[in-house]
Amino acid sequence: MIIGWGAISVTVTDSRSDNGCSGDAGAGFIGLEVAAGARKHGAEITVLEVAPRVMGRALSEASAAHLVGRHERAGTSVRTGVLIERIVDDGHGRAAGVLFAGGEVLPADLVVVGVGVAPATELAERAGLPVDDGVLVDATLRTEDPHIWAIGDCCRFPLPSGQPVRLESVQNATDQARAVAAAITGEPAPHDAVPWFWTDQHDAKLQIAGLLDGHDRMVLRGDPDADGHSVFCYCGERLVTVESINRLRDHLAARKLLAAGFSPCAADVADDAVDLRELLAVTAPAPRSTAP
Ligand SMILES: Cc1cc2nc3c(=O)[nH]c(=O)nc-3n(C[C@H](O)[C@H](O)[C@H](O)COP(=O)(O)OP(=O)(O)OC[C@H]3O[C@@H](n4cnc5c(N)ncnc54)[C@H](O)[C@@H]3O)c2cc1C
Repeated sequence: MIIGWGAISVTVTDSRSDNGCSGDAGAGFIGLEVAAGARKHGAEITVLEVAPRVMGRALSEASAAHLVGRHERAGTSVRTGVLIERIVDDGHGRAAGVLFAGGEVLPADLVVVGVGVAPATELAERAGLPVDDGVLVDATLRTEDPHIWAIGDCCRFPLPSGQPVRLESVQNATDQARAVAAAITGEPAPHDAVPWFWTDQHDAKLQIAGLLDGHDRMVLRGDPDADGHSVFCYCGERLVTVESINRLRDHLAARKLLAAGFSPCAADVADDAVDLRELLAVTAPAPRSTAP
């Protein structure tokens, strides 16, 4: 098992203004969690993201916008579409700000860089195994060499759809560890666990079930202005991802729905009075409701 965290670095200085410190971070899970935590302690925060929106890899447009709203209401400034060229030195080896590609300088006395990780695949490469942003494995997590498996952040494996993916999450790493342990002890089975993720930002617990892979419509369950709602993302008739904010029951139901390959119709999803788990129980064993 190999992995590297080379792309994450943190620059911290002890120079604080009277109002606290200011900071900048990329707008993925880590950058936004740092921003939320630091803001809670009174820091003045600007989140900078090169992409047009935050959490573009992991989150639907609707949930990303909702999350940004929470950060902004807490007093954090979120700027997207900005390319950082370099961290500006104060002349004494400490951060003084960041320089954007357009020449603008944003002053900052603390800069957090949360821009992702690169898998450490050198060992696999030296062993002659195929590598492409991760060690390539099949659905049972085996590499090209039948005696070598790869799991966790370092491996790229096929989803049930055939789409190869590399995931960075504790749940994925432990699910894959269980699958390989079973294979090694003589009970091989395809690794088909539903991926899920979570993040805590301000007063929002966001839980994601499934992977956002080519959705074309979203169905809202609950009220985003109240405390707790979910966004169900579909690709055609197929449910692909459910993003829940302060909605544990929706998240748990979503994991069951996705594991069963069951796509509830939009009318059922939008109706908060419908118990999604009961729906699944009633329509088992191989349900797939179809009405849009
Ligand atoms: C700041 C941060 C916050 C995170 N927060 C969350 C979160 O809230 N929720 C979540 O689900 N995930 C989170 N993650 C991701 C999560 O930590 C990883 O997905 C998980 O640790 C992956 O487990 P792993 O065993 O594949 O890799 P790792 O935990 O990285 O372990 C790999 C180990 O292999 C070692 N290694 C590398 N190369 C070699 C080699 N050639 N020989 C021997 N050893 C080697 C490394 O030193 C390392 O100890 C976070 C990650 C970071 C960096």
